[in-house]
Amino acid sequence: MQDNDTQPPISKAAQTPFITQYLALKADYEDALLFFRMGDFYELFFDDAKKAAAALDIVLTRREQRGETIPMCGVPWHAHESYLARLIRQGFKVAICEQLESPAEAKKRGSKAVVKRDVVRLVTAGTLTEDHLLEAGANNYLVALAEASSSYGLGWLDLSTGEILAEGLQDEELGAALARLDPRELLVSERLLQREALFELWAQWRPVITALPPARFDSRNAEARLKDHYGVADLAAFGSFSRAEVAALGTLIDYAALTQKGSLPHLARPGRTGLASRLAIDAASRRNLELFEAQAGGRKGSLIAAIDCCVTGAGTRLLAQRLAAPLTDRAAIEARLAAVSQLFEASDLRAALRNGLRGLPDLERSLSRLTLGRGGPRDLAAIRTALAGGRQLLNLLSEGAEAEMSGLAERLRRALDGHDGLVERLNRALVDAPPLLARDGGFIREGYSDELDRLRGLHTESKKLIAQLQASYAKTTGITGLKIKHNNVLGYFVEIGANHAERMPDQPFIHRQTMASAVRYATPELADLEREVTSADDKALAIEEQLFADLLSEVSGRAEPIQAAARALAELDVTAGLATLAEQESYVRPSLRDDDSFLITAGRHAVVEQALRGEGRPFVANDCDLSPDSRLWLVTGPNMAGKSTFLRQNALIAILAQTGSFVPAERAEIGVVDRLYSRVGAADDLARGRSTFMVEMVETAAILNQATPKSLVILDEIGRGTATFDGLSIAWASLEQLHEVNRCRALFATHYHELTRLQARLPRMANRSMRVSEYQGEVVFLHEVAAGSADRSYGIHVARLAGLPAAVVARAEEILHQLEAGEQAGALAQLVDDLPLFSAAQRKTEPAEADRLRERLEEIDPDSLTPRAALELIYELVGLR
Ligand code: ATP
Repeated sequence: MQDNDTQPPISKAAQTPFITQYLALKADYEDALLFFRMGDFYELFFDDAKKAAAALDIVLTRREQRGETIPMCGVPWHAHESYLARLIRQGFKVAICEQLESPAEAKKRGSKAVVKRDVVRLVTAGTLTEDHLLEAGANNYLVALAEASSSYGLGWLDLSTGEILAEGLQDEELGAALARLDPRELLVSERLLQREALFELWAQWRPVITALPPARFDSRNAEARLKDHYGVADLAAFGSFSRAEVAALGTLIDYAALTQKGSLPHLARPGRTGLASRLAIDAASRRNLELFEAQAGGRKGSLIAAIDCCVTGAGTRLLAQRLAAPLTDRAAIEARLAAVSQLFEASDLRAALRNGLRGLPDLERSLSRLTLGRGGPRDLAAIRTALAGGRQLLNLLSEGAEAEMSGLAERLRRALDGHDGLVERLNRALVDAPPLLARDGGFIREGYSDELDRLRGLHTESKKLIAQLQASYAKTTGITGLKIKHNNVLGYFVEIGANHAERMPDQPFIHRQTMASAVRYATPELADLEREVTSADDKALAIEEQLFADLLSEVSGRAEPIQAAARALAELDVTAGLATLAEQESYVRPSLRDDDSFLITAGRHAVVEQALRGEGRPFVANDCDLSPDSRLWLVTGPNMAGKSTFLRQNALIAILAQTGSFVPAERAEIGVVDRLYSRVGAADDLARGRSTFMVEMVETAAILNQATPKSLVILDEIGRGTATFDGLSIAWASLEQLHEVNRCRALFATHYHELTRLQARLPRMANRSMRVSEYQGEVVFLHEVAAGSADRSYGIHVARLAGLPAAVVARAEEILHQLEAGEQAGALAQLVDDLPLFSAAQRKTEPAEADRLRERLEEIDPDSLTPRAALELIYELVGLR
């Protein structure tokens, strides 16, 4: 909220017409910074100025206004984009206010008239379209969450590509859906923000939330809005949307139009994605598995970084979309895998296709900018290059052995064919390397328009005339250094060295300017020529702008097929990229099944394998078989032996397989997984105000409540964050629940060796351990998973490796030895006695009740007791309880 809500930023008396105009505009954009155009600058005033100056680290100045000073700062127009990018990245919204007329035009209305201004766009993180504000390889989703008839509708729109989709969901699915989409801006109604059950969710997404009045989510208005935008009488044409989904979609279009001040780019037809067709992975599991971001932050070390071999930004975006939402429909997965397989086999064709794709411009984004009225000649050229590139790729495909090529080839043919007419026209019309903006001119190729060529001829002609004039002036004045030059202030002028000024005749030279070393003159002939040149240039520019508009309307008219071509190119890039990955990294095609099998032979961890290779260390492959009679593996083993790596690699293999990628293994048979959970390690979530243990339990609860027999669950050291016995008990009970109730496939790693005994009671549980060998007193980690359970954790060994002081390590070994030798409680008491610090304290207190009981027990010799003494003893012991 603005401070100036409570007190007016300036007194009435100091409100000049200019300030009044500013305040009126600002009132409509309270939660944005107002970039107020004044000549060559965007100025910011009052609180906006303070915030922007601090955020951008620029000088905060003051402006005098009828005796009052107001804070102000500014950014130059020509460099405003980089400032804008920094503000958006910091979470600000920026309203761009332009001058709608020149000061001269304003003056015509009266000497005191203020230049007309209005906001032409509200720039927000979720509605960006400019390349320099966007990441090439990531979608920029604006997401809206609506509610109707007690169910939720989630809609998402990428304004930079025109993609718009929706899905319906329940409370418990919201977290996973938002984590999947990773919104840059999330539109939520003020009413939903008050709902207590969703507070956790809001806390997580707070930085990107834009709160809107509930009326904006009205499903009836939304429906009208959608029908109007797409020009249809009934939305059923696009699928059967729930009321909440319609509300979400309508809100998106409404908000996009609001921020773009009415103009919208070409939007694809809205689609609907069924949750059932997607592998559900909640936010915590996504983080744990480091799908898109490593725990340490950043893309490096994430799964996407390890598997992304795409050569275009659009390819990387599509790969990220697929990885974020792996499929559960076996036929759809197989279709993707079949396409990867074909390109995997056809390695020469693949190399040629990737060569063709490399360097192709971002078709989707150029199209979106153009249809939004924000594109320029360079975007038209991008469309030309990309579509022409698409044609070449098609030729390559039909030259190769693709007769038997699958659905992908067919889709490519349909999408990439039919653009030749447009490409040909753009080729004829545009120069090879056109400028960014239409108003710069010079982008229409010679020979395309006779009139333009004639005007350009005049321009060249005038230049020639100027050259002739220069020669004749030099001759008549006898000043050889005389030059005709041009600048924006004087236009064309004659310039001579200052030392020749006295020799300059009065006729026809009219003095204009004296500089230190030169003197400048105008002449009537030059003025005439200037008028001709300028008028030819103006007319030429007007023609170019008209031709640009014609080309633009042709492109807009073909927006849908162009968008389809863009998608096809991205799909080709992803498929060829995955085939390349499979070849480079020796991945195999997984076999998907409808049963609950999970059989991985020689599986590897996609990311750790690459990292170890970088260090020259081999990765040890491991098998995993969670077939029905051993669907729950309890993995024990020393610290650092590779338990976490093993657990995660299997989850990643399942995700990759259902994404439609080959997998790092020698063989993989996977019964399609419906939900995947991974709870690995304990991490504080202080930002959300929860302790390590609370986080651990919340996530474990979600798994135990939701996992189905089709799910895959990875639990690593559950119960670690609390007291030993509490932790052991929780781990124990969770294991039983997974085995008896959830009956899912699961990998459960633990240091509680006591749990291995459960194998006797739980028939579908199997013990596995990480092998180590001891060599000359040192532990060697073999990173191999073997049948059976481990007997030790070797934690102290790891502590030594980590550099704990030798004395501490030695003492720890002693304590461990005693703990293992004696009964735990007694041994602990003994140990505490050994410590001088504790033994003093111990002496002061009475022995605990339990200790007396124990002492008494130790005194008893059962063989010497009579039955009566035994009975009395029992009463005595009960009294000591
Ligand atoms: P802790 O119980 O301490 O969490 P852990 O048993 O889960 O340990 P990981 O974190 O999985 O162990 O692995 C420790 C290190 O061992 C990894 O960083 C990796 O360098 C190496 N490692 C793990 N698995 C393998 C493997 N299969 N082949 C080669 N190196 C491996």
